[in-house]
Amino acid sequence: MHQSFSIGGETLDSLDLKALIVAKGVKVSRNVYERFGRTHRIYPDPLTCNCLILPDGTIVQMTDLALHMRYLKTAILLEALRNIKYTMRLRTPFTLDLSSDGRPILLHDGALITEVSFPPASRFYEQRTSSGLPYLGNAVLQGLDFLSFQCLWPCQFAKTGHACQFCYSGGVVERLSKRKKPDPPVPTPRDAAEIVEFAVTKEKSASHIQITGGSTLNTQAECQRIVQYLSEIHRVVGLENITGEVLVYTTPPRDPTEVDQVFAAGADRIACSLEVWDKELAKIITPGKAKFTGRQRHVDCLTYIAGKYGPNRACTSFVVGVEPAESFLAGARYLAQRGIVPIASIWIPFGRPVMGKMEAPGLEYYRRVKEGLAGIYEDYDIEPPGSFGLNVCLCRDIWNHRSEINAA
Ligand code: SF4
Repeated sequence: MHQSFSIGGETLDSLDLKALIVAKGVKVSRNVYERFGRTHRIYPDPLTCNCLILPDGTIVQMTDLALHMRYLKTAILLEALRNIKYTMRLRTPFTLDLSSDGRPILLHDGALITEVSFPPASRFYEQRTSSGLPYLGNAVLQGLDFLSFQCLWPCQFAKTGHACQFCYSGGVVERLSKRKKPDPPVPTPRDAAEIVEFAVTKEKSASHIQITGGSTLNTQAECQRIVQYLSEIHRVVGLENITGEVLVYTTPPRDPTEVDQVFAAGADRIACSLEVWDKELAKIITPGKAKFTGRQRHVDCLTYIAGKYGPNRACTSFVVGVEPAESFLAGARYLAQRGIVPIASIWIPFGRPVMGKMEAPGLEYYRRVKEGLAGIYEDYDIEPPGSFGLNVCLCRDIWNHRSEINAA
């Protein structure tokens, strides 16, 4: 049962609140880091992908705007923020502070919304692989049970100057490439396997893993590279010891049968992310995908997977908030009808403008998405990845609460 909250006289459920917090960010008091930094997984570092947990268990990405701005300046994304009209909008009504008796509380314009909690303490971000690669900046723990690699190989679409407008890592690669600088270092298969081993079998801070790289122009080689990562993870950890899902993101190959080797190597699901359904908006927001792969190749590959491996084995991620809710939901329904899982990742607008804007849509937008997706998941028996939910995605939360949402 999800909980209700009151903000400015309006009643919100936990999913409404999550969408607003993810999209607007939070101002976190230093007292919170000092009080909980040793007992819980919360750090004054944006690379650790902090999250808070609402009383009903909903996991929420907690982007501390002050830390985030400092990170953007060092991550050479400042160019995107030079225009003061953007930076002036980086304000949030949400703050996280301590109550008078030392408990973490979430406030909106200074008024109490609710008490929150954090995941248990972890040693994950203190680790380095045997090659010396720090975990920090190369992998993140999400929520209570998910290990995600941000980018195991650089995005070639971004290197050709076609980064997606919303993508931080694509933006970094694009700018490095324009300046003829080398790509940032990425984990090797051995590094990745050691990171998985620590999170899954040593610390037990994750049961699901997500393999993600940038989009590539040679999709055959990309599938082979993913197989190398999965094979090394299997050699070091044993795929049978990963009790959750292995979710792999890949560029859709021209020949969809290329993904067979990825399933054979241990993927439970494969995602080819469309990000935007509306074709005209996709040309502007995801120029590389529109130019090099295009919507139809994504749909063909996903349909192949669903046809050969069954429903719920093919996924596609959408950035929720950059296109009208109606076009997103039309795409989600089209795909769900074919057994493909639409994943809803909330657009975080501070960092890179999309179509010249850095303002997320309002509450009504997220409510339409929530109600629409809950109906689609139920109508077509679609189940998104994960169990407790991820930091930025709304899909698993919607699925977890689909009966209540559909009954309302
Ligand atoms: S194609 Fe993927 S990695 Fe590349 S810029 Fe777009 S979202 Fe980022």
